[in-house]
Amino acid sequence: MANDFAQRLITWQRQHGRHNLPWQVRNPYCIWLSEIMLQQTQVATVLDYYPRFLARFPNVKQLAQASQDEVLQLWAGLGYYSRARNLHIAAQQIVHDFGGQFPQTRVQLEQLKGVGRSTAAAISAFAFHQRETILDGNVKRVICRVFALSGSLKDRAFEQHLWQFAQNLLPEKPKDIPAYIQGLMDLGATICKRSKPLCNACPMNDICQAKAQKLIDELPRKNAPTPIKTLTLFWAIIRRKDGAIFVHKRPQKGIWAGLYCVPCFEQLSELNQFCQTHQLPENGEEQAPFTHRLTHRLLEIIAFEYHVTQDFRLPESEWIMYHHQQSPLGLPKPLQQYLSQTNPKKAK
Ligand code: SF4
Repeated sequence: MANDFAQRLITWQRQHGRHNLPWQVRNPYCIWLSEIMLQQTQVATVLDYYPRFLARFPNVKQLAQASQDEVLQLWAGLGYYSRARNLHIAAQQIVHDFGGQFPQTRVQLEQLKGVGRSTAAAISAFAFHQRETILDGNVKRVICRVFALSGSLKDRAFEQHLWQFAQNLLPEKPKDIPAYIQGLMDLGATICKRSKPLCNACPMNDICQAKAQKLIDELPRKNAPTPIKTLTLFWAIIRRKDGAIFVHKRPQKGIWAGLYCVPCFEQLSELNQFCQTHQLPENGEEQAPFTHRLTHRLLEIIAFEYHVTQDFRLPESEWIMYHHQQSPLGLPKPLQQYLSQTNPKKAK
């Protein structure tokens, strides 16, 4: 089936693939530049930046001689600026370590700053017709679907397996390598898309295992979402008559590190102990619980309101009075929202 896959892809690419992209030339510098630009950027955007960059730095020597400021200036707007910084360093590596000649093998290319295995493979395949496979997200999707490979993409062992699997799919003849690699890119970008793949236009339509087994939406296997843990917090809102409340700076580690917050506890018993120690009125008014989502946690917050006299003090020096909308303190977002409510009882 590997031969069949490669041959179908090559034939399809020659007839239906993309052929007019400006970096489709047998020049490692141009291929490298385009591959780096395309890493986190759409083709349409790269089509705008690539010619300007190439006009200013037509070869690797001129790029190596430029100042970093100049390189970054031409990159402005493309984002992920480490790509530009690495490109500049890699150009200097090529000049100093490789005598100004582009290395040809994937392993040598991987020594260049910012060049990973897939980018190195693309350069060596397109420019030097080396039998090296690429394996970016699009290619992983195509291969997992056509061959119904169900490993998780987050699993390092499966990733290694995929590299070997993809390498074994390469066509034998070096002259076929560019069309094959371009075909992998084109199929993943234009036909076997993440959602709603265009199976009717796909050269793998009748050999695709995911299609035959109705597994297209399941492959490649989505990584299990990180479970969201719920954490309940109990707040003591100690409110004076003038509306001021007591807050203190939280530790530099943990939730809301370094922000100012009201007394906050993970156990109700801790809150009760705090109230007893500081002679707060018994039976604080329990508010309706509300939730706040952090990246991997869901906070369920239950606030208790304690109304104290104007001269009430907490003895420890770290407690400060906070008047909402008067003091410029960094507060956790849910506390800001809570205090913004005209009637805290309705906070949600
Ligand atoms: S048949 Fe459909 S799912 Fe299979 S490789 Fe082609 S586009 Fe992707």
